[in-house]
Amino acid sequence: MATIKAIEGRSVHQIQSGQVIADLYSVVKELVENSLDAGATAIDIRFKNQGLDSIEVQDNGKGIAPEDFETIALKHYTSKLSSYEDLTSLDTFGFRGEALSSLCALSKFHIITARVEDGALGKKLEFETSGKLKGSSASAAQKGTTVAVENLFFNLPVRRKELEKNIKREYTKVVGHLHAYACISVGVRFTVSNQMPKAKKLTVFSTKLNITTKENITNVFGTKTLLALVKLDLHLEMEPSKGPSTQGARNWSTQATDRSREVHVQGYISKPVFGEGRQAPDRQMFYVNSRPCGLPQVTKAVNEVYRSFNVSQLPFVFANFVMDTNAYDVNVSPDKRSIMLHDQTALLESLKTALTELFEQTDQTVPQSQL
Ligand code: ADP
Ligand code: MG
Repeated sequence: MATIKAIEGRSVHQIQSGQVIADLYSVVKELVENSLDAGATAIDIRFKNQGLDSIEVQDNGKGIAPEDFETIALKHYTSKLSSYEDLTSLDTFGFRGEALSSLCALSKFHIITARVEDGALGKKLEFETSGKLKGSSASAAQKGTTVAVENLFFNLPVRRKELEKNIKREYTKVVGHLHAYACISVGVRFTVSNQMPKAKKLTVFSTKLNITTKENITNVFGTKTLLALVKLDLHLEMEPSKGPSTQGARNWSTQATDRSREVHVQGYISKPVFGEGRQAPDRQMFYVNSRPCGLPQVTKAVNEVYRSFNVSQLPFVFANFVMDTNAYDVNVSPDKRSIMLHDQTALLESLKTALTELFEQTDQTVPQSQL
């Protein structure tokens, strides 16, 4: 008798969903990115009990068309990508159509949406765990979409227990990541609030409808932080490296255009004389083409250069790496957090050189307000 059998569909869905939505941060990341993709100019993120009870993300974006209600939460249904080739010119955060379907499998989930500014025309959508639409009913709503995730991981007891145990740390990490989204998103008002049981709702932070990232940074971190920063405006020219160990460089020199070797780093970093405490890694924000992402090697390189000017502190970093879309791959992990940069070695070398030059030229005086 054959022992190898296909896993039944429902179980496959749950297994895969657990990889897409790994923790509290995955939920918030996916929902905020959907709101940004929907063209929102205001995003309201509401936690109840730091996310243990619920997470709601409300936006004023384009809303969801009634024709899409049936498919919106089905796996691999997306309005953003239709073929693999589109990945190389991606300008949206989402592309795999997995987030909403995964949330249906792992939480009590619903959506309220309206396409026009008429309170009477909103719809509340409810779904089966498979992502199939269970029903829609009239619901008062402003234009835009609210996605509500309650009781996350209610059906994965081990993960739910871990979440409960580590909720304080998880929540703090999430707020750090939300700082990153809020700082880079010009023209989008972010409001983040939390309500603990039997307590009043508290605003955690908010930004205004700013037109520069500098204003966003001021809203999130205060003017004091800004005074200690120097502007980043580095043009990195990437030489194709030689030698057998530089696999990525070979790819670049054969496949990519010259334009794709240019990387422009824009943002702000602490002046060498005035860094942050050692406990402030949440104040280091990295982006590739405005997409917040963890870049561990780049982070390490920046901190290394900084350490040669200031041994006791870490820098505040807000750095956006603007580069050709075919110079990186966003599709490397199920939770889409990592980005693979082609020829990272060459990038790191030229970044270190440029940063060292910048710090050598930076005015070393301590800002007045810090004296
Ligand atoms: P993806 O973002 O990869 O397309 P999701 O599962 O996150 O996959 O979302 C599925 C689809 O639902 C999106 O392609 C989009 O069309 C729609 N959608 C999700 N969130 C929103 C939102 N906040 N506003 C408007 N449409 C949305
Ligand atoms: Mg998405």
